[in-house]
Amino acid sequence: IPSISSLYRSGELRSSPREDLPTPIQGFNDKVCTIQGDITKLQVDAIVNAANRGLRGGGGVDGAIQRAAGPQLLKECATLGGCETGSAKITGAYNLPCNKVIHAVGPIFDSLEKSEPLLRSCYRKSLSLAAENDCKTVAFPAISTGVYGYPSKDAALAAIREVYSFLKKPEGQKLEKIIFCNFLDKDVEAYAQILPTVFPPT
Ligand code: ADP
Repeated sequence: IPSISSLYRSGELRSSPREDLPTPIQGFNDKVCTIQGDITKLQVDAIVNAANRGLRGGGGVDGAIQRAAGPQLLKECATLGGCETGSAKITGAYNLPCNKVIHAVGPIFDSLEKSEPLLRSCYRKSLSLAAENDCKTVAFPAISTGVYGYPSKDAALAAIREVYSFLKKPEGQKLEKIIFCNFLDKDVEAYAQILPTVFPPT
């Protein structure tokens, strides 16, 4: 079972040259792992952005991605006509070390009943886009848990369950590594608690 640190050592995943490697936290099986750090540094096939419906850029992880990618990313986003909540669109990555950016629009948290299907749908759509575009390694931030106010543990459960169901489907077989890239301790803790319940450590 390759851990995230062994993937870094083997060169399958790399951070950009001047950055320290994100701290590996847990690897549960060959397909999913969590790390804590800045998603913009990951040399994966695709990183997922927590975007807004206008795809106009913003704060949080979106701001970090736009800054690191350079102004051409926002120009490409402007040609896409926005994106519905619960859906996602794919672009180039410009100055980022990854190959593609998948812009997923999570819900502004309302009730679990209303928000969970939308959050799960944006993970599902992102995973489909990754598979369709031959992106085998995909990193997700904790979508909707920042300014959109989704409680971290509920968001982690929805994300992890959706990834689990997707990996079981034929189209999910193409994906090799899903990285949950968390930034804040609250999300790191939520994933540490919930990931082993869905993907038991082997
Ligand atoms: P949303 O509007 O979907 O809540 P935010 O950008 O406010 O989007 O937050 C989404 C998540 O991204 C939060 O968990 C936040 O802590 C995290 N985040 C912020 N910056 C980064 C980054 N550079 N890399 C990874 N995650 C980040």
